[in-house]
Amino acid sequence: MVPVSSPAAAPVTVTFAGSGDAFGSGGRSQACIHLQGPGGAAPVLLDCGATSLTALRRCGLDPGAVAAVFVSHLHGDHFGGLPFMILNGQFARRVDPLTVVGPPGIARRLPELMECMFPGSSTVAREFGVDLVELRPGTEAVAAGVRAAAWAADHPSGGPALALRLAIGGKVVGYTGDTAWTDALIDVAAGADLLIAEAYYREKSVPYHLRLADLVEHGAQLTSRRIVLTHMSADMLEHPDQARFEAAADGLVVRI
Ligand SMILES: [Zn+2]
Ligand SMILES: [Zn+2]
Repeated sequence: MVPVSSPAAAPVTVTFAGSGDAFGSGGRSQACIHLQGPGGAAPVLLDCGATSLTALRRCGLDPGAVAAVFVSHLHGDHFGGLPFMILNGQFARRVDPLTVVGPPGIARRLPELMECMFPGSSTVAREFGVDLVELRPGTEAVAAGVRAAAWAADHPSGGPALALRLAIGGKVVGYTGDTAWTDALIDVAAGADLLIAEAYYREKSVPYHLRLADLVEHGAQLTSRRIVLTHMSADMLEHPDQARFEAAADGLVVRI
């Protein structure tokens, strides 16, 4: 009999298929975090950077099984993989719908991106529906049985950037996305089972991004059970002295 507290019995599996920044630092894939709930629930993604299909397959995860993608903001390293995801479904004869939840503007920007990359792809008849849901800061949406709440992040990207909090399988996962420090992150992290936090640089001030120094400074206000760092530049990766927090790597599996 496996005790319920055993990691093996944990109901939600979080796989960091892509844990990198936009520029391939450390040879890492762009943002793509795969969440699998209990009981055979369809998996969902947090962000879908341009390299996501490769990243998922490298982890043995089927992009065609993903039921919903929650997008933090409209930069290519966070939503640039969606055209590939949708075309892969088309060529693999996917029939189950795909829901994409993202910031205001995604319903326009995603078809534009598809047309730029694969002309005609945004209007072609497919055997599965792609539902685009625009999520404003301060509101919630449910997709594939996962409830997402959104806060305004501080990260210009042609539309509002979001920090997200997902309720999945009885657990709560907070995600900063890319953002300068904002007190909204205190709410995103509050009591969560896991906070996935950007840590772009250690100390250097880079506009509109989180630094390790910000997380240390506000550490007492971040009340999640666990914090895992992601979206790290070479500055972070070459100085693995962030002992205060766990750091993601491509392929890292966290059970909560
Ligand atoms: Zn960004
Ligand atoms: Zn980014």
